[in-house]
Amino acid sequence: MTTAIPELSIIVPAYNESENIAPLYARLVTVLEQENLTFELIIVDDGSDDDTAKQVADLEARDQRVRLARFSRNFGHEAASTCGFDLARGQAVVLMDADLQDPPEVIPQLVARWREGFEVVYARRTARDGEPVLKKLTSYLFYRYFNRFSGSAIPADVGDFRLVDRRVVEHFIQLPERNRFVRGMFSWLGFRQTVVDFHRAPRHAGQTKYNYLKLFWLSFEAISSFSIAPLRLCMGIGAIVTVFAFVMAVIIILQRLLYSIEIPGYALGTASMFLLGGVQLIFLGVIGEYIGKIYTQVQGRPIYILNDPHAQTPSNDNLTRKGDARSSLPDENNSST
Ligand code: UDP
Ligand code: MG
Repeated sequence: MTTAIPELSIIVPAYNESENIAPLYARLVTVLEQENLTFELIIVDDGSDDDTAKQVADLEARDQRVRLARFSRNFGHEAASTCGFDLARGQAVVLMDADLQDPPEVIPQLVARWREGFEVVYARRTARDGEPVLKKLTSYLFYRYFNRFSGSAIPADVGDFRLVDRRVVEHFIQLPERNRFVRGMFSWLGFRQTVVDFHRAPRHAGQTKYNYLKLFWLSFEAISSFSIAPLRLCMGIGAIVTVFAFVMAVIIILQRLLYSIEIPGYALGTASMFLLGGVQLIFLGVIGEYIGKIYTQVQGRPIYILNDPHAQTPSNDNLTRKGDARSSLPDENNSST
């Protein structure tokens, strides 16, 4: 690794992407060298079962700008991108997917906007080739509702592909939460943000790692990480049901006392019991989700574990996080300044 600080750090989470590593590297190098940008390429292997890590290690041996960070198992995309930000040393950091859905050719446009003074430059997809209509629709709904529930707005149709200035990266790696919804965290951080449009290409090779069920839970996870609106919704519905039940009880009592009407109540009683039981279970689940978040936060486990002979177990001080990987790798990041 060179000691000079590169202009750009390109960070790429990769999970079973062995066929995409070489083409990604080739296209990145072509674009960045054309633009005379100095860079480092950090590929975070998120516990792949294929030979992704070997592909990257081969590149690392040939090109000192490339660096492999390897997880001990699959920790997920958010953990892998967090690790990339922890390790990056560049003046700006570009996060992108390994599957070439985010074209490296867009990077010069991101850099141009950054040089104009924007600290976060999102790449916004105008078209999403090769993605089913249902995925586009669910993604649209997610962004609408996320922005409505959480105070901080993510621009619509923005994925993970973005450029972030060093100053913002420093704040990002200090954020202590264990449940990381990276997109939301950047919009929460603020600073001057802008978007650049691009055409999202189909995957170069391999399969998407996200099915609809996984996406549903991810969305719920994201919303509950950024807002307590679901808890308020539960309270609201609870209040409505309570008022309804109260009014019903008053009506039944009045009918019995004033008009002596006999009401065969078991059918209604059973139905409302099931309804209330269901509502309560759902609400318990929502509350449980938040308790689960508190639990993982209090456990204070690191966000990821590197499978690296030099890495020690990162600090588990959950209130003062400063890049798990940074504290675990000797010197590398301190020597360059
Ligand atoms: N990825 C990862 N860990 C995971 C799942 C995915 O690092 O557990 C990476 C994956 O290799 C890719 C990026 O995250 O570089 C986006 O994943 P994918 O292309 O499957 O998602 P999609 O583009 O279909 O939303
Ligand atoms: Mg993809």
